[in-house]
Amino acid sequence: MCGEQRCASCGKRFSPRPQNPGQQYCSEKACQRDRRRRWQNEKQRTDADYRDNQ
Ligand SMILES: [Zn+2]
Repeated sequence: MCGEQRCASCGKRFSPRPQNPGQQYCSEKACQRDRRRRWQNEKQRTDADYRDNQ
C-alpha cells in the first residue's frame, strides 16, 4: 500500500496519520491554517443558507 497523500494546500507529499487516513493537509502550520479557514468558509456558507431558509 502507498500511504502517501498530497497536501491540498502546499501540494507536498506527506504520510497521513493512521488515526486520520482521510487527512488532506500536511502538518505545516500554514496548511493547517488553510484547512481551518476553508472549513470556516464552508461553515459560514452553510450557515448563510440556513439563515436564508428560515
Ligand atoms: Zn501542506
